[in-house]
Amino acid sequence: MTKNYTSTRDNSVKISAKQAIKKGFSDDKGLFVYPNLGDTQVNLKKLITLKYQEIAQAVLTKLLPDFSSAEVQESIDNAYRDSFDSDKITPVVDVDNFHVLELFHGPTSAFKDVGLQLLPQLMKHALTANNKVMILTATSGDTGKAALEGFKDLHHMGIIVFYPDGGVSSIQKLQMVTTGGHNTKVAAIKGNFDDAQTNVKRIFNDAKLKEALGDEVSLSSANSINIGRLIPQVVYYFDSYKQLVNNGTIKAGDKVNFTVPTGNFGDVLAGYYAKLLGLPVNKFVVACNENNVLANFFQNGVYDRNRPFFQTVAPSMDIQISSNFERLLYYKSGEDAAYVKQLMDDLEDSGKYKVSKDVLARIQEDFYCGYSTDDEIEKSISDVYNHNGYLMDPHTAAGYKVMRDYQKLDSETPMILLSTASPYKFVNAVANAVLPKTADDVLQVMKDLSTATHVPISDNLRQVWDLPVRHQSVIEKNQMSDYVKAKVEEVFYDNHQSSSN
Ligand SMILES: *Cc1c(COP(=O)(O)O)cnc(C)c1O
Repeated sequence: MTKNYTSTRDNSVKISAKQAIKKGFSDDKGLFVYPNLGDTQVNLKKLITLKYQEIAQAVLTKLLPDFSSAEVQESIDNAYRDSFDSDKITPVVDVDNFHVLELFHGPTSAFKDVGLQLLPQLMKHALTANNKVMILTATSGDTGKAALEGFKDLHHMGIIVFYPDGGVSSIQKLQMVTTGGHNTKVAAIKGNFDDAQTNVKRIFNDAKLKEALGDEVSLSSANSINIGRLIPQVVYYFDSYKQLVNNGTIKAGDKVNFTVPTGNFGDVLAGYYAKLLGLPVNKFVVACNENNVLANFFQNGVYDRNRPFFQTVAPSMDIQISSNFERLLYYKSGEDAAYVKQLMDDLEDSGKYKVSKDVLARIQEDFYCGYSTDDEIEKSISDVYNHNGYLMDPHTAAGYKVMRDYQKLDSETPMILLSTASPYKFVNAVANAVLPKTADDVLQVMKDLSTATHVPISDNLRQVWDLPVRHQSVIEKNQMSDYVKAKVEEVFYDNHQSSSN
């Protein structure tokens, strides 16, 4: 079997794409990466004549060489056959002198659906005979529901989602706790997102638990550190480019810019992969919210997470450690795993690291970074709605402001702004920005916003209010490991399934 992948922290690691997807991340705590990615090129001229699923086939075949063509095809078919409410999957909408790439037409109305509809299908092909996989996910809101929908009722796979009690929006919580399926488990934990994330990482490295679970059952991750989630996102960069060629905005070969609201740096890293594979991109404009660790890094090359944590109106970007940035450091250091390991050790020991001038300069060649405050986000939502009639969610709006800053430096290159969520998913912030006053009841706010703006509410967000609550566990941080053990038993071995969570 071809072993194309290695670890960001250890060059001697050699692993196939299937194994990498099944494991999630490397034993040395590094992330799996494809070395010399730039040596692999797609045929751009051909790609831009294809439909979304065919572009996906072409991209995945390059990046997942040990999957058969039939396996890739079946996975793509299952993922996108009828789960998106646009047959373009990720349609581009023209707004003023920029183009919005709408990534929120999937089953949970967030961009994470693009990756998380496909990851479970890929994982299915990575499992052998008696393998069973329990997915553990810590979520600040969007990943949890998207992962639950992707893995729901798949054979030999289960999923447990931990979310911070009180730390997600009421809609996000409702979406998660109403999830059906025999293999889906959801628990609130008494702590914040970083607590949930830290403990999930600890569980992955818990040798005792591994032993208790036996040989058949392994644990894996649905966070964007998993290449099986990242790679599907490469596709829409090509597809949006194709859409601009088709509507006459650009000619094949012209350069474009992308603006990407960022948290874990997964979405924008997928764009960089597209560039390495041959997509003509000038710059990636990376946008943070007030948790602007990354924006500061771009000033001086110091990544320093020792700072207060802010809860913002764009909560899916409330992150202080952008996990996937490690992958960029790998590529931009000339694939120097020892160097990356040193930086990551520094981060773990002191909460910060500093890169060399060269590495910073190479990063700045491809990326520009800035941030938006909550006030700027609200102003962006209201400005764009009032001037252009387009309704953005707060994450997209965080991107909008940074995009406008960048356009002062380069107004010529066509700009694609990635829209990562439906405005109804974060309806309070959006309504505050565009309605004169807002109701107390969230469902009412959604209806009022829809009446005022004529932007339809997606089916899943309308229907979620009528579903029964199926998951009510609230647990202590130190109970997470026991919870995992119990749920593995329930999902994979208990034939007399209780209907509770
Ligand atoms: C997850 C998320 C982001 C951040 O994406 P990353 O891949 O973590 O950088 C931005 N917006 C929304 C709505 C999200 O759910």
